[in-house]
Amino acid sequence: MEQTFIMIKPDGVQRGLVGEIIGRFEKKGFTLKGLKLITVDRHFAEQHYADLSAKPFFNGLVEYIISGPVTAMVWEGKNVVTTGRKIIGATNPADSAPGTIRGDYAIDIGRNVIHGSDSVESAKKEIALWFPEGIAEWRSSVHQWIYE
Ligand code: UDP
Ligand code: MG
Repeated sequence: MEQTFIMIKPDGVQRGLVGEIIGRFEKKGFTLKGLKLITVDRHFAEQHYADLSAKPFFNGLVEYIISGPVTAMVWEGKNVVTTGRKIIGATNPADSAPGTIRGDYAIDIGRNVIHGSDSVESAKKEIALWFPEGIAEWRSSVHQWIYE
């Protein structure tokens, strides 16, 4: 089954949005497979965002991500990478539709509350980076009530 890496950024943790955000993924029917609150260092944040290292906003982005604890998660389900990105909304909250997490809870692009993997391939890389210890092996008992 497909998995994605979701991270509630420091602003989301500080603003008390962890429960709300987890609830949206849970209520959709996705399965929580990994979860931890962790403060990462500069080197780790730079690894996570390595693809963006040439961007002018890179240093500010790294400062933002290391500014406090983040909630790192793995969510599993059919099409969870693409659907997860839809639940999150557009990168710039000014363009995120109401009803999405960024559309409902964010204003500035540099404080956009949450990260989600952009492809199955980057999800695999990000899960390996953030959860080297591995993730939980379990299957929800309501699986048959969510999938036909
Ligand atoms: N970002 C920013 N300024 C920009 C573009 C992106 O501060 O002009 C930040 C923003 O927090 C975004 C993150 O960099 O979430 C990663 O950018 P990406 O293009 O991967 O967007 P995402 O996948 O998070 O929607
Ligand atoms: Mg991205």
